[in-house]
Amino acid sequence: MASRTKRILLLGGTTEARELGAILAERNDLSVTLSLAGRTRAPVAQPVPVRVGGFGGAEGLAAYLRTESIDVLIDATHPFAARISANAAVASESTGVPLISLRRPEWVSEDGDHWIDAGSVEEAVALLGATPRRVLAALGRQELGPLETAPQHFYLVRSVDPVEPPLDLAEVEYVLDRGPFDEAAEIALLQRHRISAILCKNSGGAASYPKIAAARALKLPVFMVRRPPSHGAAAGSVATAVQLLDHALGLANRGE
Ligand code: NAP
Repeated sequence: MASRTKRILLLGGTTEARELGAILAERNDLSVTLSLAGRTRAPVAQPVPVRVGGFGGAEGLAAYLRTESIDVLIDATHPFAARISANAAVASESTGVPLISLRRPEWVSEDGDHWIDAGSVEEAVALLGATPRRVLAALGRQELGPLETAPQHFYLVRSVDPVEPPLDLAEVEYVLDRGPFDEAAEIALLQRHRISAILCKNSGGAASYPKIAAARALKLPVFMVRRPPSHGAAAGSVATAVQLLDHALGLANRGE
């Protein structure tokens, strides 16, 4: 007898989740739903059915896993999306639904890089110092508040959607853009705005790495916010996540 289609909930909002969704969409033994928080106004097209919006904490996520008879939960959210990942770990634990985490490896500094390590955006802004700098702030829209504590700097704020309301800063410009970025274009952007420092998170991945390579080429310091701690074992690539999924499904089959 053919076993029933396995139901997968894929927590996304990242390039990796979209790539994994595209691979899993080809499989007729799986039924995949991709979950987005709903932050981006015009999200890019996705290869599998999408649901949008929060679940209502770990308990809400656990209830969804039960109601929708989810067989495997895959957390492919951004490495800095700490709350949803913690909720996924708790919901997996309370329901017994296996959890696979897909985390792109973090960037590692190379010869010629000048990174200043910070534990948070607040700390990174403080580390910019008293002397005015011209800073490219490549952060999420929700993370920009601390810039207002250091108004002596000029900020070039890059985001996918407009920053509303605008920041309470005299010296600020906004640029709307979404990756993948290109090193030559990043160098041109940094030069055009006479940027002297970059403020960003250690997101990892290729799409937003060109600003790091551009900083190296121009010998600019990068104020790098380190990642929050991650939960459980993580796959570092889409291919490994597929292997872990097959493993989890194999275990699930044996338990039936
Ligand atoms: P977060 O702080 O970890 O999550 C806040 C709340 O948003 C969660 O408690 C959950 O609400 C809801 N949520 C987050 N991701 C969700 C998802 N994929 N599906 C359904 N609900 C979700 O997350 P965040 O840092 O605001 O990031 C939000 C989304 O943007 C994530 O999907 C992430 O992958 C993506 N993203 C984040 C970053 C970043 O730097 N943080 C960068 C690029 C993309 P409930 O508790 O109500 O369930």
